[in-house]
Amino acid sequence: MVFKKPLVFLYHRVGLPAYENDNMAPEEFEKQMQYLSARGYRIISPGQYLSFLNREIDLPSRSILITFDDGAKNIIEYALPIMKRYNFKAAIFLNTAYIGEVMYHSREKRKFYKTREEALADSCHGEKLLRFSYLSWPEIKFLAEEGMDFGSHGHSHLVLTELTRKKLLEELDISRDILFKKIGREVDYFSYPWGTFNRHVKRYVKAAGYKVAFATDHSHREDVFSVKRILVRTRSSLDDFIRLINENLYL
Ligand SMILES: [Zn+2]
Repeated sequence: MVFKKPLVFLYHRVGLPAYENDNMAPEEFEKQMQYLSARGYRIISPGQYLSFLNREIDLPSRSILITFDDGAKNIIEYALPIMKRYNFKAAIFLNTAYIGEVMYHSREKRKFYKTREEALADSCHGEKLLRFSYLSWPEIKFLAEEGMDFGSHGHSHLVLTELTRKKLLEELDISRDILFKKIGREVDYFSYPWGTFNRHVKRYVKAAGYKVAFATDHSHREDVFSVKRILVRTRSSLDDFIRLINENLYL
């Protein structure tokens, strides 16, 4: 089996209690990593992926890039030790406005709130709010020392296609500046909050200095600023995961 290009997987949260607040069960995540390792898949960095897209390097077949969106705090406790067992690395996309915070999330409203009260007041029909804890700067520094890479997921996880030009620039520039100052490296990687973008947003992402941008769904034509990722859902079993790999092998 030969990939035309590396597969890119998208995860969000791995932790306990499993299936609460969008947590994938650590044992399920471990089964997936173990499968990749046992089958000889090679985990690459976003830098290698970018070099591949720019035709600077070739990659062996069975190369995979693992990404995490949002910068959930439980990456440290649950995902990192599992990945270390297999010597795997990942790219983590951060929302710079939420570093070290706990936020309440309404999926229906596509919004994040500082307090539960605020979230309850704004979300209508008694939907179950999600409570997300985010990595702090010392934790991000620790993960960087462990070999993880970082990118921007926007400053505050807004729907970029709905923003004014000024607000869009802010979301792209502020997060890149903050990450540069805190991590001490140019930030080349971007992932679209909600996977949402259009031609206009792509142009601004490029102009802001990012070199590659990751999307989610498969309905668009792919290029360096709309790289397709395979979403591994919270409740994906090992069988689901294997199916995802097989379905995407020849895309
Ligand atoms: Zn996100």
